[in-house]
Amino acid sequence: MIMAVEKLIEFGKDILFPRRCPVCDDVLEFRRGLICAKCRNKIKPLKAPFCAVCGQPVRNMEAELCDLCSLGIHEFDKARAAVIYNDAAARVVLDMKNNNKRENADFMASCILERLGRDIINFRPDGIVPVPAAENVLAERGFNQAEIIALKISKYLHIPLYNSYVKRLKAAKQQKSLDLKGRRKNLKKSFIIQKNDVKLKRVILVDDVYTTGCTADELTSVLKSKGADSVMSVTFAAGVPR
Ligand SMILES: [Zn+2]
Ligand SMILES: [Zn+2]
Repeated sequence: MIMAVEKLIEFGKDILFPRRCPVCDDVLEFRRGLICAKCRNKIKPLKAPFCAVCGQPVRNMEAELCDLCSLGIHEFDKARAAVIYNDAAARVVLDMKNNNKRENADFMASCILERLGRDIINFRPDGIVPVPAAENVLAERGFNQAEIIALKISKYLHIPLYNSYVKRLKAAKQQKSLDLKGRRKNLKKSFIIQKNDVKLKRVILVDDVYTTGCTADELTSVLKSKGADSVMSVTFAAGVPR
């Protein structure tokens, strides 16, 4: 019954506020998907060959691991992304963050579910943890995009969401301007576990974009220090071949 009411509300919402394409912003045809026909091909699934650990595209078909992962640098067990971070994917991500287009989370979550739903289930997680936004970012933006995406995945796959399990302190510096070493240093001690009564063994981290994996690594070490044994990072998009 509740489900039916929810559906009705969703239905009404779509009529009052027609959905827009997350890439070009054109109004979408009613109930005809979450992206327009023109932009559908601009979003590229991240397909093999990719690194078995970090999930980043690799150029060499034969390579099982990328150069960085062959050095064994990551704390997380594996990372997977649904699509390539190209201009179209960037538009989806940045419009949500900077222009408050929260509905873009529906498209991102649907890409993750379609491409990675099976991997997530096979990982047998006991919880989903969205990568928290730093306190100052959260105060300014008013929402954490990772949390909105994670909520949709959690609901769809019936995996519990732990959205206030970890807190992220204000970042010392903008990550973008730093190299790998700098990013790691900058992230040290930035995550704090807020609930000591929660025990998670197998955790799925959800975020919008995977860049160097430093954030997932730092969060993983905090989770593992509290008893987690396996952590998989899942994102909507990830970088370029290397
Ligand atoms: Zn479009
Ligand atoms: Zn790798």
